[in-house]
Amino acid sequence: MKEKFYIGCHLSSTGGYSGMARDAIKIGANVFQYFTRNPRGGAAKDLDPADIAEYIKMAESNDFGPILAHASYTINPCSKEERTREFALETMADDLDRLQNIPGALYNFHPGSHVGQGVDIGIELIIETLNTILKPEHTTKVLLETMAGKGSEIGSRFEELKRIIDGVSLKEKMGVCIDTCHMSDAGYDVAGDFDGVIEEFNSIVGVDRIKAVHVNDSKNPPGSHKDRHEKIGEGTLGIEVLAKVINHPDLRHLPFYLETPNELDGYAEEIALLKQLRT
Ligand code: FE
Ligand code: FE
Ligand code: ZN
Repeated sequence: MKEKFYIGCHLSSTGGYSGMARDAIKIGANVFQYFTRNPRGGAAKDLDPADIAEYIKMAESNDFGPILAHASYTINPCSKEERTREFALETMADDLDRLQNIPGALYNFHPGSHVGQGVDIGIELIIETLNTILKPEHTTKVLLETMAGKGSEIGSRFEELKRIIDGVSLKEKMGVCIDTCHMSDAGYDVAGDFDGVIEEFNSIVGVDRIKAVHVNDSKNPPGSHKDRHEKIGEGTLGIEVLAKVINHPDLRHLPFYLETPNELDGYAEEIALLKQLRT
């Protein structure tokens, strides 16, 4: 059976939800990701019911896949500073409250950086945060992103993601967003043996936990821990590998989101290219 191909990219939220839906349609996307608020912090925009209603109508009539809300990457739920952790917790709780208005949304966040406290304490703090903010009534799945392992980032090893999920009480709310650039930068052999990487993920976390895929090429060789995304086909992964990613039997039903260095035109081209490569 030929599954529907859910493909899109990161979009600016300036025009609201309906504006993003319009941009998505313009570039041939049927899913998109956005930041829930300005990365430099600050309050999220007030929800506009008319904008949301318009978005929902457009998403339905264009058969969109899930919208991926990305937490600002400046929050750190496992910081050394209690105030920083508190801020992360409040921000994430507020994001999840707001997402109750967006049907079928996914919420992705970077697990955080332990800043010298060590992986064990970092993981404990992330679990504590999740167990405080997750509520049974939430309709949004919360995704841990696989990280490049820059600095003291947690989540660059599949084992770490597994430990976080194991510590969360409401496990059914938890998923993972795999990022091809990050996994390669973390040292997984995405370029040489993508099937093997997914097999390894499956044996540690389980492929059923994967709810979204970030499709990015990487500017750097495997294991660089750099986290610099590259345009599709212009990096160290290359077009053949990324074609394998979007067609992988365990992934092909999932939504794919580009986070490559592009404006709308560039994204439209990459989306068209990936559609051609979809089998
Ligand atoms: Fe991310
Ligand atoms: Fe990503
Ligand atoms: Zn990245």
